[in-house]
This record gives sequence, C-alpha cells and structure tokens, in this order.
Amino acid sequence: MTDSFISHERDGVVWMTAPNIEARHAFSTRLGGVSTGALSSLNLGFGRGDSAETVLENYRRLGRAVGVDAFSAAFTQQVHGTDVRVITDADRCAPDFHAPCSSDGLVTAAEGLPLFCFTADCVPALLHDPAHGVIGAVHCGWRSSVGDILGVALEKMAALGAVPGDIRAAFGPAIGQCCFETDIDVPDALRAWLGADAEECISPGRAPGKFQVDLRAANARRLVQLGVPRGNIAVSGECTVCSHDKYWSHRYVRGGARGSQCALITL
Ligand SMILES: [Zn+2]
Repeated sequence: MTDSFISHERDGVVWMTAPNIEARHAFSTRLGGVSTGALSSLNLGFGRGDSAETVLENYRRLGRAVGVDAFSAAFTQQVHGTDVRVITDADRCAPDFHAPCSSDGLVTAAEGLPLFCFTADCVPALLHDPAHGVIGAVHCGWRSSVGDILGVALEKMAALGAVPGDIRAAFGPAIGQCCFETDIDVPDALRAWLGADAEECISPGRAPGKFQVDLRAANARRLVQLGVPRGNIAVSGECTVCSHDKYWSHRYVRGGARGSQCALITL
C-alpha cells in the first residue's frame, strides 16, 4: 500500500515530494550535487570524505532548487534515540553548525524555518498540520521507531497546537521490506510497540530465523493508532537499497563510503 510521490528536477538537482503535504518540503536524492567519486554527487553529510565547502555547495544547490534557505534552518545530531526538540527562531543556523543538542526529531510552529533530518535507509517522516501551522521532521530508524519517537513528536506538536486528526504525514524513500532483513529482535520490538498491528509489517525471511520488516508501514500504523487518519498518510514505495543509483543506502555500501540525503519541510 504505497502512494505516488512526485519527482522534480531543477538545474540537475532531483528531489521528491509527497502528494498530500501542502507545506514546502523535499526528499533529496543523490543527484545534482558537486561531490565526486563514491560521494557523487549530492552528499549532504559532513565528515564523510567531502570537504566542508563541497557539502555546503550541495546545500546551496538543493536550497536554490527547492526554494528554501538552507543557511537559516534547523539541524541536529541524530543518535537513534526518541528525543524530539521544539525549534524556534533562536535555533536558526547554517548546515555546518554543530548542533549541541542530539535528537532525532524536530518540530516547530515558526514560519520560514526549514527543518532537516537525514537518512540513508532509515525512514524519514515529514509531518504537517495545516490547520494549526505546525510541522515536524523525524528520523525513524528502527530503534527510534520502536521507542515511539512518533508518539513523542505528536505530543510536542500538540503542545504547539496541532491536532492528530488534522496532521498530514509522509514517509519518504527508505529501505523497503524487500531489503530489510532482520533477526527476531526487530519483530519482537515491533510487537511490543504496535501490538497486533505489527503482524502486517512482518514477513518470514528467506533464511531460517530471519524476517523481512516493513518499517514504513509500521510507522504509518503507529500514526493511525495515535489518531492520524489513514487517508492523511502517504507512504513512498521507493526502496533506497534497490534504488541505490538514486538514493544513498547504508546497507548497499556495507560500510563503504556513502553520502547522506535529507527530508526537509518549512512553513
Ligand atoms: Zn529493496
């Protein structure tokens, strides 16, 4: 059960948008930047082998293409936890600013303040309550997911005035069930998190003791449990591992050099 996301291209930069999110947003790809070699070409991660100037030029290109100011935005250091930070205008910074705070989710009601989260197989979630003017960007790796980071994000959004029934959500390109092979620990954690709803997201693996897990479907189920209407949720069908020519994939390179892509949203 996936939705058609929309592909955009400007000056070589390719990005995707979700059909149900009105706020300006983007899921970046690895296409249209100036990085070379294994990081070719739109790498948004610092410390992965590119010079800082190269990465900053990639942010300039992405920002120009999408129409956001990536040098007056909010970033964080992701740690696969469940902390979600409320962002205000005081948090505006450039991409190479080293955020003192570690959190895997950002929410805000501030206008024109882009929120960035980064992935390379993990699930990026963008949230928007258009009725109350609140957005969120959440990095949903499996540990953050089963720790209920979406529950935390919706609590923080509610404190800013958002209502679950009015929230639109989009889960972007990420590792698909086709490629997310796990041991029993991940299905067990999904069952503890979602209850019986977990079963539809877990399939037997190709080898004994292995499982194939649909982490995007699991996160979509969680939003429904939290009161977001199913019709307000869009799920990309693109797998970052299968589509490694288009997206950065941590699993595909298996420890080799790779870049990082982003999901961004702004009011
Ligand atoms: Zn795949």
